[in-house]
Amino acid sequence: MGSDKTLKLADSVTSIKGVGKKRAELLGKMNIHTVEDLLYLFPRKYEDRRHAVTIMEAPFNQDVLLEVHVVTKQVSGNPYSKKRLLRVLVEDNTGSLELLFFNGKYLADYFKLGQALTLFGKITLNNGRRQMAHPEFHITGDKDDVRGLFPVYPLTEGLYQGQMRSMQLAVRETAREIKEWLPEKIVRDNNLCDPAYAIENIHFPLAERPVLESRYRLIFEELLTLQSGLFYIKRGRERSEKGVSISKKVTLQPFLDILPFKLTEGQQRTLKQIEEDLESNRAMNRLVQGDVGSGKTAVAELAMYKTVKSGFQAVMMAPTELLTKQHIATLKRHFEPLGIDVRLLSGSTRAKERSEILDDLKSGKIDILVGTHAVIQPDVEFANLGLVITDEQHRFGVNQRTVLAQKGENPNILVMTATPIPRTLAVILYGDLDISVIDTLPAGRKPIRTFLRYGDSRKKIYDFVEGKVKEGRQAYVVAPLIEESEAIDCKSAEEIYEELRKLYSDLRIGLVHGAMKQQEKDAVMESFAAGLIDVLVSTVVIEVGIDVGNATVMVIENCERFGLAQLHQLRGRVGRSGHQSYCILICGSDSETARKRNEIMCSTEDGFVIAEEDLKLRGPGEIFGTRQHGLPELNITDLVKNADMLEKVKYVARDLIDRDPELELPEHAELKKRVKKMFGEKIQLRL
Ligand code: ADP
Ligand code: MG
Repeated sequence: MGSDKTLKLADSVTSIKGVGKKRAELLGKMNIHTVEDLLYLFPRKYEDRRHAVTIMEAPFNQDVLLEVHVVTKQVSGNPYSKKRLLRVLVEDNTGSLELLFFNGKYLADYFKLGQALTLFGKITLNNGRRQMAHPEFHITGDKDDVRGLFPVYPLTEGLYQGQMRSMQLAVRETAREIKEWLPEKIVRDNNLCDPAYAIENIHFPLAERPVLESRYRLIFEELLTLQSGLFYIKRGRERSEKGVSISKKVTLQPFLDILPFKLTEGQQRTLKQIEEDLESNRAMNRLVQGDVGSGKTAVAELAMYKTVKSGFQAVMMAPTELLTKQHIATLKRHFEPLGIDVRLLSGSTRAKERSEILDDLKSGKIDILVGTHAVIQPDVEFANLGLVITDEQHRFGVNQRTVLAQKGENPNILVMTATPIPRTLAVILYGDLDISVIDTLPAGRKPIRTFLRYGDSRKKIYDFVEGKVKEGRQAYVVAPLIEESEAIDCKSAEEIYEELRKLYSDLRIGLVHGAMKQQEKDAVMESFAAGLIDVLVSTVVIEVGIDVGNATVMVIENCERFGLAQLHQLRGRVGRSGHQSYCILICGSDSETARKRNEIMCSTEDGFVIAEEDLKLRGPGEIFGTRQHGLPELNITDLVKNADMLEKVKYVARDLIDRDPELELPEHAELKKRVKKMFGEKIQLRL
C-alpha cells in the first residue's frame, strides 16, 4: 500500500485503500474516524532498526536487529498435539542462536536451510545457549525487511502494527495539507517547527533530531489546546455565573465553640478561602486537597454551617455507605445541638423514610443531607440548595458532581480529596477548580512508625499486634487477595483470618472483603468502629476515609502488591489519635520496584512527596488513565515527563485567553476548533 495522493484530511478512514467496515470499527474504538485522526495517532515509541548487530555483540534482553542464515530446524513435542515447538538454529559469522516458536509447527515450512533472514527480537541466555523466542522475521532483502526508526503505535485488539504502519503510509501525503494554525508570534517565540513537518517526522523519522523537534511541536500544541480550554472554562465561570451568595454577617463562632478541637493552620487557611468564595457573588468551585486525617470534614462542616445559617440547604455526597454513616454521626453530634436538621439518604434507606426525606427536602425542612449517590437520583429535589460537597472526589466522575450541582441554581461547590496529587498536576487535572491545600495535621498526632519485615517474622508481628490489643488498641491487617489463589503466591485475607483465629483465640477477629454484600461489610466495619472487633482482616475495601481513632496498628501483607498511593492511603487509617501508631509492611518480594516503594514508605509520611514518587515509578497513565478526572485524553503529552513544558505553555495559554477570552479572533479559529474537539461533550463549552 503506497501513499494515496487523492485523500483529504476530512475523509473517512474507509476511503483508505484496504480499510473496510470492520477495520473502520476497530479504528473507531480508538476514536479514529478521519484521515486527520489517523495522522494524529502518534507512535508510543520507536524501534531502532537502522543497523544490524552480530549475534556475539548483541546485548541480552533488548530488542536487536540481526542478519543470519538458517542452519537447521526441528519440530519437537508430542506429534498428536497441536502444541509443538519449532526450533530453528541460525548463525552469522560470529556465532549461533536458537529461535523458538511455540505452537510453531505451521511455520516449519517457511524456513529453508541456508536461507538469509533478518530478525528482530530479544536474545536471552538459557543454560549458556543464546535463544530468541518468537522474533519478528523477514527474508533478508524482502520488501518487508525495512530499515530505520520504526514507529510503534498504540493499538486495539484485532489491529496489528503492520496494518497501522501501512495505513500511515497510505495517508502520508495528506499530512501536507496541514497548514500552520498557531499565531505567528507563538510559533516564533517558542521555536516551533511546521505542523506538516512534525506529522511527517513523527510517523516516518529518519533520525532522532527531527523526532524530537516534532514531538516538541506536537506536545506544545496539545498542551496549548488543553490549557486554553481549561482557562476558558474557568474564566467563563468567573465572569458569568452569578452564584448563591452567602451572608457576610453569619459568624462561625457558635459552631467553632461546639467543635471539640482548635482548627489547625491549614484548616484555618482553607476555611478563610472558602468563606471568601461563599461571600462573593460568584459560585464557589473549590477543591480541598488534604492528606488522610488532615481534618477535611470539619472544614466542610463549617462551610455547611455558614450556608445553612444564611437560609440555604447543603448536601454532602460520599462514595460508600460506611463513610456516610460516619459523617452523619459526626454531623448530628455537631449540628443537632444548634437546631440544624441533618438527614441521611442512602441506597438502604427504607421507602417510607425515603419519601419523608424527599418531602422534607423539598419543603426546606431539612437543612443538610448526607448520602451516597442516592442523593443524585432525579426525584431528590431541594427547596434552595446552596452548597454541594463531594467527599473523596476521586471516587466520583465529574458528571456526578455536575448532576448534583444542577439540583440548585449555581450552588457553591466544594470537592474534597485525599488523593495527593502533585501540585503542578493538580492545576491541570482540576484546572477548572480553585485549589486549597490542608497541609497540616491536627496537633498531638504522633508520626506513624513504619517498619519493613519479611514473612519469616510473621509470628513476631502478630504477637506485637496481640500486645497492642491487650493495651486496649485495635489493628487492621490488609491482604491483597480475598481467597487463596494458585496462580499468585501470597496470603489471602481468608487464609490470614483463619490462621489468626487459630493462633490468637483470645482476640476478636473480623473479616471484611470486597466480595461480601455491602450490608455485611458495613456491619463488620461498624462493629470494628464500635470496638467490638480487635483485629480487622480485610482487602483494600477499607482504603477510603474510615476513621477509627483507637486503631493504631496497620499490618500490610504482601505489600509489594500495592501501589505507593494505596499504601499511603492504607497507612492513613491509623495515626488518627494521640496513641502511637504503627505500620508494618510485610514484603514478599525483592524486586527493585518493591524495594523503592518500601524505602519511600519508611522514609516519609508526606502524601505529596509520596505522590511525586509514585508518579515517577508508575507514570501518569496508570494514575490518571481512568478518565475519572474528566480530563480529556492526551495523545502525546506525558504530564510527568513533560512537566516543564506544562508550566511554559500555561503562560502562553493564559496570555492568549486574556487577550481573546472567547477565542473569537480569526487567528485562533483552528485552536477553537481543537479545543472543542478535545473537550467534546465532557465539559460544556459555550464556544
Ligand atoms: P480526613 O481529612 O481524612 O477526612 P477527618 O475529617 O476524618 O480527616 O479527620 C480525622 C480526625 O481528626 C477526625 O477524628 C477529626 O475529628 C479529627 N480532627 C480534625 N481536625 C482536628 C483538629 N484541628 N484537631 C484535632 N483533631 C482534629
Ligand atoms: Mg474524610
